[in-house]
Amino acid sequence: MPPLDSDFALVADILQLKKEKKAVILAHNYQLGEVQDVADFVGDSLELSQKAARTDADTIVFCGVHFMAETAAIICPDKTVLFPEPHAGCPMANMITPADLRKKKKEHPGATVVCYVNTTAAVKAESDVCCTSANAVKVVQSLPSGEEIIFVPDQYLGGWVAEQTGREMILWPGYCPTHARILAQDITRRKQEHPKAKVLVHPECRPEAKALADAVLSTGGMTRYARESDQQEMILGTEIGIIHRLQKENPGKRFYPVSEQAVCPRMKLITLDTILWSLQNDRHIIRIPETVRSKARRAVDRMLELG
Ligand code: SF4
Repeated sequence: MPPLDSDFALVADILQLKKEKKAVILAHNYQLGEVQDVADFVGDSLELSQKAARTDADTIVFCGVHFMAETAAIICPDKTVLFPEPHAGCPMANMITPADLRKKKKEHPGATVVCYVNTTAAVKAESDVCCTSANAVKVVQSLPSGEEIIFVPDQYLGGWVAEQTGREMILWPGYCPTHARILAQDITRRKQEHPKAKVLVHPECRPEAKALADAVLSTGGMTRYARESDQQEMILGTEIGIIHRLQKENPGKRFYPVSEQAVCPRMKLITLDTILWSLQNDRHIIRIPETVRSKARRAVDRMLELG
């Protein structure tokens, strides 16, 4: 859909205010197309954390879901992290609480807790090391063999990492409702419609869906695959927001979602209006108690040190 005149006016105001406030806009690959277009950088959770760690901006406007903005605030305590929509939470991140995790750790004293970044700062603070879908295999491989591992909260990412690494892990039964909606039968149907296309599936999908994929990749991995491979057609088993970026970066190639139902409603709550409002009013500033932030920081840093 072509942008409306009102969108041009909003974008101009956002860019002006961004300059005045020395702000940077970071957006996740699942954000609305117009939000991705106004951002300084679009990426997956790992890339956004790395970008936050390196920015010299005074303010970060984070367009994603709440745990992502928290991760930026964990890494950058000296910067203002603005989150335009406080209701944009991740259901998977809410499937585990710090109390739940403390109980699990008591049942397995001495176990190392590997925590997917899709968790609250308070859960990260109870964990030993974080991971994203891009580096989860590397993080688990870095742990000494024989070490007991608790992996939270995504059972499907955890199960896939266990398979890739050959490590036994205690899995928390969380999942992403959006990726759980991507079914094996949808992939089979799409493959019949586009027989030449390669199927790329996110590790948060169910095992039956991953079993049908040509490659299991994070969203960052998908963007690299689309850019670097000779493949002209791809079927994407992830949230459909990524298609906007893939199409923009690879105009000659064709991208099909496995399922039009794979929409994360929370990711779509941030709009141009809320970004402008956020910059105008300094809302909502992400604040994390220092005791929680410093502990969570250790787990995030351990991940970032692995590259
Ligand atoms: S796509 Fe899934 S994991 Fe990502 S924010 Fe939405 S619910 Fe959470």
